[in-house]
Amino acid sequence: MSDLVSARGTPSIVNTQQKAVQVQQPKVAAKNTPYWWEAAPVRPLPPQPLAKTLDVAIVGAGYAGLSAGMTLAREGRSVAAFDAMMPGEGASSRNGGVTSGTIRPDYATIARRFGEDKAIAIEQEGKRAREFLYDFIKTEGLDCDFRLVGNFKGALGYNHYDAMAHGAERLARVLGIESYAVPHAEQQSYIGTDFYRGGTVRMDIGGLHPAKFHAELLRVALASGLTVHANTPVTAITRDGNGFSVKTSAGTVQARQVLVCSNGYTDDAAPFLRRRLVPVRARIIATEELSPDLMARLMPKLMMMGENRQLGFYYRPSPDGKRILLGGRDSSRAGDPAEPTIRLRNGLVEIFPELEDVRLSHSWFGNVAMNRDMIPRIFEKDGLLYASGFCGSGVVWAPWVGMHAAHKLMGHVDKARSAFDFRAPAAVPFFNGNAWFMPAIIKGYALQDKIAWLRARR
Ligand SMILES: Cc1cc2nc3c(=O)[nH]c(=O)nc-3n(C[C@H](O)[C@H](O)[C@H](O)COP(=O)(O)OP(=O)(O)OC[C@H]3O[C@@H](n4cnc5c(N)ncnc54)[C@H](O)[C@@H]3O)c2cc1C
Repeated sequence: MSDLVSARGTPSIVNTQQKAVQVQQPKVAAKNTPYWWEAAPVRPLPPQPLAKTLDVAIVGAGYAGLSAGMTLAREGRSVAAFDAMMPGEGASSRNGGVTSGTIRPDYATIARRFGEDKAIAIEQEGKRAREFLYDFIKTEGLDCDFRLVGNFKGALGYNHYDAMAHGAERLARVLGIESYAVPHAEQQSYIGTDFYRGGTVRMDIGGLHPAKFHAELLRVALASGLTVHANTPVTAITRDGNGFSVKTSAGTVQARQVLVCSNGYTDDAAPFLRRRLVPVRARIIATEELSPDLMARLMPKLMMMGENRQLGFYYRPSPDGKRILLGGRDSSRAGDPAEPTIRLRNGLVEIFPELEDVRLSHSWFGNVAMNRDMIPRIFEKDGLLYASGFCGSGVVWAPWVGMHAAHKLMGHVDKARSAFDFRAPAAVPFFNGNAWFMPAIIKGYALQDKIAWLRARR
């Protein structure tokens, strides 16, 4: 990216000799690699010999592929995961680390489209999936800075606050989750801003260090007997007798079963999935270290934070409590332009005017994967199993869905049962991997946000 963004978001000009010329404001040098990689860099793995035959070949070694591979290996299956990049270099070491486990469509929308039973099952599975993650981190002793600090969601206007407060009350009543409304007058004890008109808190959401979590998951998966082939893209999967011929850059392997966990990085090796999963860029910025006083004022409870805009930002303290990381959509599709960083920075300053002069240390992006109904999926097509479509909430969903997909491959009917195991998501019309329509969709959401803002604040 143009890694020079001024303190007030004015891009520096790079002249023909590629020397940065400062415009008005002092420059901010933002690294374009994830902040998380400072403590847990993604690394290549030593090359492994390619097995001739496998029980299961997995495409992708992010959270989903590793969780599935570990589950299969622990049951004695010969299993290898292939990743086109270094393991974790996809979304699994780039994300915000918020254990949200949310589903984009609300309860009423899911009930309307898929029936009340499915809506209830999905909601209950969210609770179980979060508990599974927290228990897994604890029992395996994963060193990943996990803290169950709770999540504050800010309301744009008082009208939104009323609906959100009702939702928090329902969550507590129906699912027994500790969740409650925070009126505007009490907001400052949760967040140092007057930007919102109150908000809600749910205490079943926390934060972890996503790259450490991936590295630790990789450690236990390898120890369980999973083989991981790094920088080894799968280029084709074809039916071969009772199994599959899996062509990779290191050679071809015969696998009895194949599981595809490529999510937002799906390519031509999985054409059926590619037509159903739109990769969307998401970006996160990190501030430089802030003073303890300032952090205590802005984030007194060090909670995870979000808001109710369509293109809403989510933000959190770094695990050491010294910086703020803020994430949101990135409508760019090529290269690494400065504009999305500026948009996020402006968003940060809008919420926290005190940060007007703050410098950014990092700004990076990765791909999330959206399907049409925005519900994660396990599905089978022509004998291949797919586990993907986490729509920006895969810290909770990907390990959970990967584990269930593994049980499905092993024929463990009870352990495989999941509300996400149903028909394949519909193909996206006129889409074959090139998300040309995303900038227009994001502009549409931005307009809806503007209208909602005007209504909320008039
Ligand atoms: C900026 C950002 C912020 C996010 N914030 C949050 C958050 O705060 N909370 C949350 O819950 N979720 C968040 N997410 C989403 C979360 O990171 C993902 O849902 C999750 O990591 C998906 O895991 P995965 O294993 O399915 O996919 P990935 O980790 O993306 O792994 C897929 C892998 O498949 C590999 N692959 C693809 N094709 C091939 C092929 N042909 N051959 C071999 N390998 C292949 C890729 O190289 C890649 O490594 C965020 C995502 C991003 C990008």
